[in-house]
Amino acid sequence: MNYGEFGGRYVPHDLAVRLQEIEEVFREVQEDVSFKEEYMYYLKNFVGRPSPLYYAKNLSVYAGGAKLYLKREDLNHTGAHKINNAVGQVLLARRMNKKHIIAETGAGSHGVATATVCALFGMKCTIFMGEEDIRRQRANVSRMELLGASVISVTRGNGTLKDAVDEAFDYLVEHPDVFYLIGSAVGPTPYPEIVKYFQKIIGEEAKEQLFEQENTLPKAIVACLGGGSNSIGLFAAFLDDDVDIYGVEGAGKGIGTGKHASALASAKVGIMHGMKTYIMDKEAYSISAGLDYPGVGPEHAHLYQTKRVQYGSITDNEAIEAFKLLCRLEGIIPALESSHAISYALKIAKQYSKDDCIIINLSGRGDKDMDLVLKQ
Ligand SMILES: *Cc1c(COP(=O)(O)O)cnc(C)c1O
Repeated sequence: MNYGEFGGRYVPHDLAVRLQEIEEVFREVQEDVSFKEEYMYYLKNFVGRPSPLYYAKNLSVYAGGAKLYLKREDLNHTGAHKINNAVGQVLLARRMNKKHIIAETGAGSHGVATATVCALFGMKCTIFMGEEDIRRQRANVSRMELLGASVISVTRGNGTLKDAVDEAFDYLVEHPDVFYLIGSAVGPTPYPEIVKYFQKIIGEEAKEQLFEQENTLPKAIVACLGGGSNSIGLFAAFLDDDVDIYGVEGAGKGIGTGKHASALASAKVGIMHGMKTYIMDKEAYSISAGLDYPGVGPEHAHLYQTKRVQYGSITDNEAIEAFKLLCRLEGIIPALESSHAISYALKIAKQYSKDDCIIINLSGRGDKDMDLVLKQ
């Protein structure tokens, strides 16, 4: 994959050799029909795919512009898009005869998805999670433990997601037998490409579903961006089409306050977690834990630089407003992450005509965020 100046494999030599091995197996399985069949079998029968593409009529009337369609990743088993990638990577790990999976998690969604597929395939599972996040996300820690995973508390740094990723990489360097199941479209080559490959089902389905319902391409598509996996999964099917594409980062308390999670707002290039990309020079902050990552995946960096995708941001307060709106208008409780995409779509809907369609990726369900929203 070519991401211009971005991406790469900035890791110690021994680890680079092992990543090369993963890349080779990944190339093999892409050519292997039985692998694809197995992946699709679990997506259909375990995850519950295809997820519906739902015309949100009430929300569209409210927005007063284009027809708004929701890609319902919130209806997947474990409640978000993350399971698509977890299923794919655990199958890849099995091909490599790995028996022990490690993963990092911030809010716990990726940890739960990983613990779930490890239970399914009888793999040992170790999840690295910042001690601060463990405190904030007790319910997900309990889920992971019920599913048989060990959750390791990470105390370095601020005890949040970035530190958990650093810890997972250190463990990986010291334990050649483990497979690191990365949760977003980030990290050294070939991870961003692997994650995209297992998430592109989102856009493929949505494209076909919109053709069935409207017999047309969307005029625009919108998704929120932490590391960038649900967004690249939706975008992949439309990059070569005449479709406006929008990625939405967390603006936290406002870009001007410095308390935000928008790596593209400052647009500083650096190296983190084995990749070259845009990274923040301060701690990331967003009310929504899934967007709280101080960088973006290298393909997004490239899509930003080449201007194929337009990147914007939405504040905590705007996201909360969109969260409440979707509950009331459509009977759907969205994840706070996804609420950023909804809020952004409401802003741009009027730029399009009433016959145009916009697809919004509803990346996850919001049960996990209810208490937080009710406290505001
Ligand atoms: C983790 C998460 C995100 C952000 O991660 P990406 O890799 O950027 O998609 C967005 N929405 C939900 C519901 C999540 O759990």
